[in-house]
Amino acid sequence: MAETTTVEETARGNGAAREQIEVENPATGGIAGTVPRMSPDEVAAIVARARAAQPGWEAVGFEGRAKVLRRAQKWVLDNSSRVMETIVSETGKTYDDAQTAEIGYAASAFGFWAKNAPKYLGDEKVRSASPFLAGKKLVMRYRPLGVVGVIGPWNYPLTNSFGDCIPALAAGNAVVLKPSEITPLTSLLMAEMLEECGLPKDVYQVITGLGDVGAEMIDHVDFVMFTGSTATGKKVAERAARTLTPVGLELGGKDPMIVLRDADLEKAANAAAYYSMQNGGQTCISVERLYVEEPVHDEFVRLVTEKVGKLRQGVPTKPGELDVGAMTIGPQIETVDSHVKDAVEKGATVAVGGKRGPGPGRFFEPTVLTGVDHSMECMTEETFGPTLPVMKVRDAEEAIALANDSVYGLQASVWTKDTSRGEQVAKRIDAGVSSVNDHQVNYLGLEIPMGGWKDSGLGTRHGPDGIRKYTRKQASVITRFGLKRELFMFPYAGWSAKLIGGFAKLLYGRGKR
Ligand code: NDP
Repeated sequence: MAETTTVEETARGNGAAREQIEVENPATGGIAGTVPRMSPDEVAAIVARARAAQPGWEAVGFEGRAKVLRRAQKWVLDNSSRVMETIVSETGKTYDDAQTAEIGYAASAFGFWAKNAPKYLGDEKVRSASPFLAGKKLVMRYRPLGVVGVIGPWNYPLTNSFGDCIPALAAGNAVVLKPSEITPLTSLLMAEMLEECGLPKDVYQVITGLGDVGAEMIDHVDFVMFTGSTATGKKVAERAARTLTPVGLELGGKDPMIVLRDADLEKAANAAAYYSMQNGGQTCISVERLYVEEPVHDEFVRLVTEKVGKLRQGVPTKPGELDVGAMTIGPQIETVDSHVKDAVEKGATVAVGGKRGPGPGRFFEPTVLTGVDHSMECMTEETFGPTLPVMKVRDAEEAIALANDSVYGLQASVWTKDTSRGEQVAKRIDAGVSSVNDHQVNYLGLEIPMGGWKDSGLGTRHGPDGIRKYTRKQASVITRFGLKRELFMFPYAGWSAKLIGGFAKLLYGRGKR
């Protein structure tokens, strides 16, 4: 059976006792596993192996690649308990968050890209309006780039780190994945899985290490798909500019949710509680700030406070027992704490929650803040935690202005019973996705693009561009019949210049403007 090189093999191959990274279980404070801390010196050889393996993988064709991806889809579902355990152990999220937003996503993505890669990447015949191309065949082809480097964050080790590898592989590339040093275990499990599913050796490799190996990888690969913070994303783009390597950047967000006075408040409050607290609020497309029209503000706050107050938090041990898990990394809990303190110092009220939970794991209580405004960090900077700041606004116009008062533009949502009006409001918000009576579920619509405007990113994942970005476009003109010498060729002559000039006027210069 075909093999995939794992990081452990690489470590053994080097024959040295190498430095290890201890992967912590954020919910218990225990150790979930250890992985080698690879060094930037090792990256070039890993990418070279990927480069050597890629032509064979491309040659397998769409059908051959789809077979491996469909086996992977089945594997992930057959082994869902193991995948879930691994994700929960390194992130501290609940089993339910791991099941819905990670395994559910991956299972659907394997099938989607297996099915749609030929549709999005098949040769396209093009008709040209140019008379010079009359009678010729024009073709647009998509060829894989070669080696795609994926750099991922810690919040969704399967969906965000590994998820971007799926279309890159479906397009015929080899992939080198650098997961976050905080959550590398799921990416390694996926290497084991792909090996079992028949992926040729070295087509998918994982580099475990710190940010320095991610930075080094940029110099060697043909495309960098980065998901993470805006600050690191800018560094990635700068580094990639040195080698003119294209990048896709999925960065931070500060998603606004707008509740209009005619909204179904019960529905909006359920959604606000879920989309702000799901995954402990550690989702780039979490609801991070809420604007409610004045006439319904108090009732909405009452409803959402009651719902958030009932959420169960603790150490995850099985599905269905808890609603909110742990905070995955230490610095993030500090950010959440400081945003809450800053808001309270500036006059906000904690309606529920507001402080850290009991250790040894890392917890922050699901929190609702009221009386907030844009002088507070909780309304302007990405919090990335289980907080929901709610601001009262005069009307929809004020809500739109405040929603757009942000460096970010990832997602937004508007809540109203009048969906036509909702659409009018939603389209005025500067964000890559702006929905009506929904938030986040667009991520499961793999047919539509997902990506950020402004400081939230560059390019999109999902939809046709979600796989075409992993290819080079090649145009081709195929001429079967033609003159021995075209009219415009040498030697230039007065009669031919006149003819071409007249022809251009006839085609493009007639009529009044
Ligand atoms: P970081 O930006 O800190 O890290 C992301 C990845 O980049 C990690 O693997 C990190 O490695 C690596 N890295 C660090 N420095 C460099 C460098 N100089 N060059 C190349 N790679 C480097 O983000 P987080 O992991 O903290 O993720 C959270 C952020 O991700 C949030 O801001 C969130 O909004 C955003 N995000 C965006 C999503 C989107 O789709 N738009 C989805 C999910 C998250 P290491 O961890 O080892 O340092």
